[in-house]
Order: sequence, then C-alpha cells, then structure tokens
Amino acid sequence: MTIRDDELRRLLELVLQTSERELDCDEFLERAAAYLDRAAASADTPLFADVRAHLAVCPECLEEFEALLAARGGARSDESASGA
Ligand SMILES: [Zn+2]
Repeated sequence: MTIRDDELRRLLELVLQTSERELDCDEFLERAAAYLDRAAASADTPLFADVRAHLAVCPECLEEFEALLAARGGARSDESASGA
C-alpha cells in the first residue's frame, strides 16, 4: 500500500489547515490576551476569528473570556450578578 506524493501532500495540508484553524485552550488564552490588549487600545477592535471560533466550541473558555472582559472593564455592565 503506497500513498502518492500528491495525496500525501493533500493530507498534510488538511492537517495543517485544521491545526491552524482550531486553537487549543492554551493558545486560545494567548490569543484572547492579545485581543484584549488591542481592544484596550481601540474599542472597536473586531474579535479575532480564531478566538471567536474557539469560543463557539468551548464553553469553558467562553466563561473565562467573559471574566477577562469583565476584569478589564471593557464589558457591558448590565450584568451585575455579584451581590454584596
Ligand atoms: Zn477552550
């Protein structure tokens, strides 16, 4: 059983594309921090596509990200859940 060069290359490309598109949670946090830095500098920084993609599939990071946003004071403050 042999794989031709061009087939192998296609497979490799698929693998690379996939790993490029999907962040793992550690990478996500790095990207999220980079995004927050930019967003702090300019309020209408669009959310990075890879960050958004990870948020869509990972509720844990979504929660984390929202906490980060809130901590930066950049989030909407219509959610005052912390009763004192
Ligand atoms: Zn995650």
